[in-house]
Amino acid sequence: MKKYKKIILAVVISMMVSLLGSCKGNEQQVKNSIKIGYLPITHSLPLYVEKKVEKENIELVKFGSWPELMDALNSGKIDGASVLIELAMKAKVQGIDLKAVALGHSDGNAVIVNEKIKNVKELKGKTFAIPNKLSTHYILLYEMLKKENMSLKDINIVELPPSEMAVALLEKRIDGYCVAEPFGAKAVVNGNGKVLKQSSDIIPNSICCALVFRGDFIKERNEKAKEIVEKYSAATEDLSNEKERRTRAKEFLSIQDTVLSESLGWISYDKLKIEEEDYNRISQYLKEMKLLDNTPTYDEFVDNSLLE
Ligand code: ZN
Repeated sequence: MKKYKKIILAVVISMMVSLLGSCKGNEQQVKNSIKIGYLPITHSLPLYVEKKVEKENIELVKFGSWPELMDALNSGKIDGASVLIELAMKAKVQGIDLKAVALGHSDGNAVIVNEKIKNVKELKGKTFAIPNKLSTHYILLYEMLKKENMSLKDINIVELPPSEMAVALLEKRIDGYCVAEPFGAKAVVNGNGKVLKQSSDIIPNSICCALVFRGDFIKERNEKAKEIVEKYSAATEDLSNEKERRTRAKEFLSIQDTVLSESLGWISYDKLKIEEEDYNRISQYLKEMKLLDNTPTYDEFVDNSLLE
């Protein structure tokens, strides 16, 4: 009997040792993998393409909304994110050590309105949706109205989650919207909305989403951070091929072909560097619109060293 007890004890001990060993292995793996947050929009497509190549080292963490993503980034649950640059700028002035290391995309934001609206002036008194006040979409709306001697007070502004906007337009709850893609193209393809202006018609080179890293990640794992940006850059090169862009976007977003074609025609992934002039322009708008009293300077916030 005693002999059996000894054998059972030995088996239990060896199981515990191997279990502890595997836990340690998992811990190591989790510690080594880099977590990057994103929202499922065409603006974060380069991250998806990078993940296709770099399967092991990056863990893409999907979020349903910008506030959830920012909470995770600010608290260090993720090491970086593809995010609206304005939200990251706000976190930076609030004391979170963040650095913008590359652009997510160029262009790819359209002002969508219902079929009856012929020009900007006709938006007076109408309801218009944006995803968040701290966004390039809100800045584009502001500048578009300003060019027509109108102001944000001339229209009724509502904040809506991106995925609800096309439906809200269809149900006539709103008369127009500006948001990340493919949610604008959706209304155009559905036939109940049209493009009033593309972002490039309103503000040339308007920056929108950026790849942002936590400062501690850049400092402590600089080689890794550089490697990620290098592969991110290679991913955007792959996206210059139209066929590749379509295939990858379809895998990433699983949306209708027609919506995808329309949407991908509006966006570009060619430019990655955050230019000082473009950054300062966005910064100026944030102050002018009183969305942020203080904005981080280009040198404080933008880190081009990983891209170079
Ligand atoms: Zn964007």
